[in-house]
Amino acid sequence: MLSIVRSSITRSLFALSLTACASAPMSPDASTDASSADTRSLDAASSDRPEPLDAATDDVDATDSALPDVRSDASRVDAMCDCFGHDGTYCAANARALATANRCTLPVSTSNANALLRCAMGRWTVATTCANGCSDGEVDGTDECSLPTCACFVRSAWCGASAARHGLGLDPPCRVPLSPAHDDDLLGCDSSGRWIVQQSCAMGCFQAPTGVADYCIDTRPTPTDPGWADCARRPQITYGVHPEASDRMRCAGITAGQISQTIGGAPASAGYHLQDGTSMGLAYCAATDLRTGGMSETQIRALLEALALNGFAAWYRKPGSDGWPSSEAPHIHAVFAGVVMKTQLRGQVRDWLLGLNGLASHTTYRFWTPSARARGIVRLLFSRNYTPP
Ligand SMILES: [Zn+2]
Repeated sequence: MLSIVRSSITRSLFALSLTACASAPMSPDASTDASSADTRSLDAASSDRPEPLDAATDDVDATDSALPDVRSDASRVDAMCDCFGHDGTYCAANARALATANRCTLPVSTSNANALLRCAMGRWTVATTCANGCSDGEVDGTDECSLPTCACFVRSAWCGASAARHGLGLDPPCRVPLSPAHDDDLLGCDSSGRWIVQQSCAMGCFQAPTGVADYCIDTRPTPTDPGWADCARRPQITYGVHPEASDRMRCAGITAGQISQTIGGAPASAGYHLQDGTSMGLAYCAATDLRTGGMSETQIRALLEALALNGFAAWYRKPGSDGWPSSEAPHIHAVFAGVVMKTQLRGQVRDWLLGLNGLASHTTYRFWTPSARARGIVRLLFSRNYTPP
């Protein structure tokens, strides 16, 4: 159900983006104003507990007894939602989906799709109204306002991934509305200056040097061996890891006990950890979360490099650093680059290859930089299925 909710969110954001991109990108001042304007406590609303529904249903006991399911639903009094296990920020639509899944009531309105809600110690407020839409975070409680949409800047034809990279380099940085869903397709502008898919590329998109039109490729080049170390075939390290990623994780020195999440366990968790597919009959998500408790930052950097040498685009999510909220737990988020994955993860691997944080802000990742060799391995693995930046 959540995926339906999410895809409709994506569609509505998408529609918003399409209307927005005819005009110039929002200035940073505009979004700052929006963020300070609407921060208000909604404690008053939260003290208005809903009326118990028992009184209404008691009157119709005779007919109710024939419909036990209906009655038990109708007579349940929903509790107020806590922070769903994560203090932090939630796009209104995601908070609503979580409230439905958890059968609880939010004390703030979720009718404005651009509202970014904050939950701290069980108390909900509207943090801001996003001027350019709201983006899903990597885990619950890490949603963020989206970057402004880029005015369409394509002269002839531009691969989505390459156009997205160009947008992030503009001042102010902006996002291409058809990215990451169309990163491997050829984008352009229509006569009204709207972003369009000029051509869907079945085999990927060739990014020509600046000034030369990009084009769809006819055949995907077979990636040669990245020259990485041999790695023995072993049983799956834990549920939800792709068999090849499982072997590579062991070769990077990971043990099953270090893995905290593969396919997202929470029913309404952010889309990044939903299942990506199956391989050899095993369900997998290309993203894995690893515990970092007890490790020094030097050890964490060494592990990130070992992971990259084994094909993982990985970030240490350090609270309060590189765009990761201070309220969230530290961990490593690692995406195995060599397998089929959902669009959000493709966008993250592309970010990683560009030295960015893989979050909605797409800022430079400062905690650690991979070696050229490690970056080359991840890039080559990614090119099995997608066009790297
Ligand atoms: Zn993760």
